[in-house]
Amino acid sequence: MTRSLTIALTKGRILKETLPLFAEAGIEPLDDIFTSRKLLFDTTVDGVQLVILRGSDVPTYVRHGAADVGVVGKDVLLESGADGLYEPLDLAIARCRLMTAGFPDAPKSGARLRVASKFVNVARQYYAAQGIQADIIKLYGAMELAPLMDLADEIVDIVDTGNTLKANGMVPLAHIADISSRLVVNKAAMRTRHLIIESLITRLGDAVARKEAAS
Ligand code: AMP
Repeated sequence: MTRSLTIALTKGRILKETLPLFAEAGIEPLDDIFTSRKLLFDTTVDGVQLVILRGSDVPTYVRHGAADVGVVGKDVLLESGADGLYEPLDLAIARCRLMTAGFPDAPKSGARLRVASKFVNVARQYYAAQGIQADIIKLYGAMELAPLMDLADEIVDIVDTGNTLKANGMVPLAHIADISSRLVVNKAAMRTRHLIIESLITRLGDAVARKEAAS
């Protein structure tokens, strides 16, 4: 079997919403992705494979052409940059907001604001654009802990229901961007595999439109 298309999907909550859209578009993994320990899956379409990755690795695989197409959150794209990638379709899944957050009415600890985030590039750009001098502290998880432990004054994080912030005594402060998952395509693959990729974009776009119309 020749490989005609490799699609990199983001694991976790995005995957749960991605698979039904791909099924609607006629692509289903041959094994159960949620119970299998495999990372690479053949599908119901000959030559089309799915690879399951951490979100932050999806742009890297697609940018280097190891995968032709990917599904990844806009938050990850904003942070990693979109070099070498087209972003032809908003899949309208895993919607949330990228926000600053902190304790309500917290006094500033010093001349410079201390901000903890895994989105250090987004945070740096955001505070610079606001004219606020900020020291950005890179964390890999549990951002809400940083103000609680007095490591930071504010965080930049994903907010969905706001329950995580509330449970830790914090509130959302400023809205940075609306987030949803996007289809990304390697720029070279878009030329060399134009027909199959265009057809995938059309079928996924139709699936998104049908889902939106039904909700
Ligand atoms: P919530 O308590 O509903 O505001 O959810 C906040 C936490 O869930 C954040 O710390 C994120 O890590 C995670 N989260 C919520 N929505 C998403 C999403 N669409 N993509 C990735 N992570 C998310």
